[in-house]
Amino acid sequence: MPYKGWKTITVKDEVYDYFQGRWLKEKDEYREQGITSFSGFVTKLLFEMIKQEEFPHLRHINTYENRVIIGDRRTDSIVLVYLREDGVAWCDKDEEKNCDHVKFALSLPQVQEAYRRKGLKIPET
Ligand SMILES: [Zn+2]
Repeated sequence: MPYKGWKTITVKDEVYDYFQGRWLKEKDEYREQGITSFSGFVTKLLFEMIKQEEFPHLRHINTYENRVIIGDRRTDSIVLVYLREDGVAWCDKDEEKNCDHVKFALSLPQVQEAYRRKGLKIPET
């Protein structure tokens, strides 16, 4: 049985093998970003695909302890979203907590995982 909040799907061998091959090659790099399982890895790729459709001008560059680095093609800039200790995600560029950068950052699986680890609720945007 999957964990609460997760579902199981069945995919063709070729699809599974593609993702498994990438995971085996790239897992050290992803572990540094806090993604520790194959399932988390596939979820991250699928989330990125969804977010590409929702925010086609934004790209996740990296996540560190308390900040997410996002590339914004619309303004040709790098944007920092800070994950504050009180749980608020704060955009350094727009100086607010409800812009697309924050929405994009909060949708990332590793950011959600960081909130879970700290016992913080993910803010509504
Ligand atoms: Zn912003």
